[in-house]
Amino acid sequence: MIRIALLPGDGIGPEVVAAAVEVLGAVCRSHGFDVATHTLDLGAERYLRTGETLPEGDFVRLRDDFDAILFGALGDPRVPTNVHARDILLGLRQRLDLYVNLRPVALWHESLCPLKGRVAGSIDMAVVRENTESLYVGIGGTFKPGTPDEIAQNVMISTRKGAERLLRFAFGLARQRRGHLVLCDKANAIEAAHGLWRRVLRELAPEFPDVRATTLYADVACMRMVTHPHEFDVVVGDNFVGDILSDLAAALVGGLGLAPSASTHPGRVGLYEPVHGSAPDIAGTGRANPLAAILSLAMLLRDCGQPGAATDIETACADTVRAGLTTPDLGGTLGTRDVTASVLARIRPRPATPEAAAVPAPNG
Ligand code: ATP
Repeated sequence: MIRIALLPGDGIGPEVVAAAVEVLGAVCRSHGFDVATHTLDLGAERYLRTGETLPEGDFVRLRDDFDAILFGALGDPRVPTNVHARDILLGLRQRLDLYVNLRPVALWHESLCPLKGRVAGSIDMAVVRENTESLYVGIGGTFKPGTPDEIAQNVMISTRKGAERLLRFAFGLARQRRGHLVLCDKANAIEAAHGLWRRVLRELAPEFPDVRATTLYADVACMRMVTHPHEFDVVVGDNFVGDILSDLAAALVGGLGLAPSASTHPGRVGLYEPVHGSAPDIAGTGRANPLAAILSLAMLLRDCGQPGAATDIETACADTVRAGLTTPDLGGTLGTRDVTASVLARIRPRPATPEAAAVPAPNG
């Protein structure tokens, strides 16, 4: 039994999470495993109603009672400070110490790539971003703000523990993929914080002789991702560099509507969410692309011991996109429900009898 907490959140979050839950039901039936889902009321509505963002009781529940969290999106024009999003999302990432942010990037159809001459399958990488450190720890501030002498400072944190655990994860992932890992940094300019990453990479490399570990300066990596995207397999960066490179990589294969992510700490409850935000501009119109949320569900199921179901979902999504059955953000004319229906139609039904098992399933 997989215990999944649903946090639909704001804007299009509830629409895309509902789509993912439909797909979850279909793969549970086709693969014969059980899930228990429970929806938590966290988001702008609750904040506006009660002033609460992430109450301690909800946090403890999420930490202790679930195997995974399927998250929609947070952000609401009625909460311009975005305080609820910060408390909930950053609160979960930091308090659960979800140090791995994994974003797979694969080109399913040449029409999705803004570069010339890139065919389906020619881009296939996994961006592994450190999720708890670097410039995003919130250390810093301003001195004499608003004056000609103003000073602004943000501190970049890299720890040996943080670099080592993320690089170990990335090495392990490279082993399961094409055996190449590239650490992207600015060690030439950010000598201390990023130099540490390079030293840890060199120390760990002998433990993974089957992985080719290389380094690239992040600016060079940006250029090569555009000119030679096929060269990349596992891409690793600290929180800052990983943030930028993961968005660049996602833009090569279809952008936000197709970008899933997993924030994890092996052995703890993981957080799975589409990369996109709450998209208030299209909320309630029925035009949100549900695929990023559905693909995030696939990542969740793979981590929860259902790799077959995960692959089936990914194949159904890829086939849907290849058939041109897409929402407007990907150039199509369909709505959330139609795209979801297309994915559902491509999930192989479970064979009811041995005879039925012998009959090839429609899109199997
Ligand atoms: P945030 O700060 O939460 O990331 P944002 O407004 O910067 O919010 P998004 O909410 O991701 O970013 O929206 C950026 C643009 O992409 C918007 O025009 C939105 O409509 C579009 N968009 C985002 N997600 C989707 C989706 N799933 N389907 C279709 N369009 C989307």
